[in-house]
Amino acid sequence: MTKPSETAPELTTEQYRVLRQHGTERPGTSPLNHEKRAGVYHCAGCGQALFESNTKFDSGSGWPSFFAPMPGGVGTQTDHGHFMTRVEVHCAKCGGHLGHVFPDGPRPTGQRYCINGVALTFAPNAATSAATSAATTRAAE
Ligand SMILES: [Zn+2]
Repeated sequence: MTKPSETAPELTTEQYRVLRQHGTERPGTSPLNHEKRAGVYHCAGCGQALFESNTKFDSGSGWPSFFAPMPGGVGTQTDHGHFMTRVEVHCAKCGGHLGHVFPDGPRPTGQRYCINGVALTFAPNAATSAATSAATTRAAE
C-alpha cells in the first residue's frame, strides 16, 4: 500500500480532467459560483493560494470569476488553438490548468479570470466570518 504524498492531494476524475488535461467544467455547476464569504481560493492540485475573495465578482458566465490573482499565484500562456487567441491560466506551482483570462473584466484591472470551480478549493477566513456573524447578530437586535 502506498500512501499519497501530502503535497499531492488525490484528485477526483473531474478535477484531474480539468487540471491535468485542460478540461472545462459545465458552466453553472460549481458551488463556488455562489460563494460570497471572505477567504482564499487555493489550487485543488497542490494547495497554492491563487485568488482572494475580494477580487471575485459575478461575471454571469457560469464560472467563478476574478479580476486579479494573488501575486505569484498563477501563470499564463497564450493559447492559439481556437478561432480566437485566448490566454490560458494555470497554477504557478504545479502547472495545473485553471481556466482563461479575458480583457473584459471590471475595474481596476479590466481582466476577467474565468476559472473552473472544480480546480479550486475555498478556505473561508475564520476570523472574518466570525466578525461578520457577530455584526449580523448585532444588526438583528
Ligand atoms: Zn497547483
